[in-house]
Amino acid sequence: MADTPMHFVSTREAAPRVLLSQAVLAGLAPDGGLYVPERVPRLDGLARARTLPEVAKRVLAPFFEGDALAPQLHALVDEAFTFEAPLKALRSPDTFVLELFHGPTSAFKDFGARFLAAVLARLAPAGARPVTVLVATSGDTGGAVAAAFHQRPGARVVILYPEGKVSARQAHQLGCFGDNVEAYCVRGDFDDCQRLVKGAFGDAALRGDVALASANSISLGRLLPQVAYHAHAALTHQRTQGSALNLVVPTGNLGNGVACVLARLLGAPIGDIVFATNANTAVSRALSSAQWSPLPTLATLANAMDVGNPSNLERLRFLLPGLEGVRAQEVSDAEIRAQVRAGEAREGEVWCPHTACAVEVLARLRASGDARPWAVVATAHPAKFETVVEPLIGRPVPVPPALAQLLQRPSRSTQLAPTAQALAAVLRAAP
Ligand SMILES: *Cc1c(COP(=O)(O)O)cnc(C)c1O
Repeated sequence: MADTPMHFVSTREAAPRVLLSQAVLAGLAPDGGLYVPERVPRLDGLARARTLPEVAKRVLAPFFEGDALAPQLHALVDEAFTFEAPLKALRSPDTFVLELFHGPTSAFKDFGARFLAAVLARLAPAGARPVTVLVATSGDTGGAVAAAFHQRPGARVVILYPEGKVSARQAHQLGCFGDNVEAYCVRGDFDDCQRLVKGAFGDAALRGDVALASANSISLGRLLPQVAYHAHAALTHQRTQGSALNLVVPTGNLGNGVACVLARLLGAPIGDIVFATNANTAVSRALSSAQWSPLPTLATLANAMDVGNPSNLERLRFLLPGLEGVRAQEVSDAEIRAQVRAGEAREGEVWCPHTACAVEVLARLRASGDARPWAVVATAHPAKFETVVEPLIGRPVPVPPALAQLLQRPSRSTQLAPTAQALAAVLRAAP
């Protein structure tokens, strides 16, 4: 197995295959598809890896085969995986929570953003122009990317977020980094921000003047590191409980869900996977019929999962054409509220609205008589969504120390008109 280069192919199968570095730098494949590994090997001896960084090194190694970054994989993992992803037992028997919110911005996106930042830092040739990482965010992505690139030499971050559409705490977090991180509040909605970013990437003259890099959720540099914590949780469960672990994954663009599927394909002892969505039904409609079409995005209480057309569906169909052992279930805002309210009494936990979707789906499985071991994946700390959570539980949620530190810093953002010209002027201006 060693030394066989790993190539990445486009889900649309009309682009040349490339090695990992090129796939990360390109973002989207030239035929408009998403890059996927051409094969996913089953790994032997996975169970010997114990810590999260050890598991990350094992599961990521096949994807780095033949790439210039392969000798640096261990350094990349040690730099990015500096916090835990604990699997905690809940009060109900055979029920666990995989906590992914112990990073600097209290959401799972810290894992992917930190790994991508470490990769991009090693791909920039010495003396190259500074790279501008341009990102549109509905909340969590921008903060994680800002934290990961803050004060990195050779990188500048430009964040666009919709005015009045992110929580006060999220807005503060986006603007509190300063230095090489600039936050712009756009008069428009998230789709306007995304349209502006796409326009900038498609503007050849602008790209001649400014070295733009993407940090959006289709990036393999964000997706691949997410395989590690699903594999680590399942291996830990296997070692301590002797059985495979089934997982419920809160799902929006399906990046975390596809990473969980990849972990299972690589040989991690994962049983069934259920994608828990909010009222946006694309994933469940796509899994239940080959014929489906995207619908406009609905705003829900789990706003980081408000995705009408999840791009990673293309990856899921490519990697798991028969869709074996995966399902999707939708959760309403009323059910999210009920699970947040009931969390402390039932399990001694305060859930964020996204995690509450997974908790609701597991409650349905239990009600139908499923007694197997299940973990819900907790994608964010509830203190990040205080405006939803606190009125439901009737008291403040203690803020984790890393987040509290960010909230104490002064925050600054600049208004930006929702036009290509306004964004181009910002990007061309010397930082
Ligand atoms: C981004 C996000 C999700 C959705 O993850 P996908 O990988 O897009 O499916 C769920 N919960 C939280 C808190 C998020 O920030």
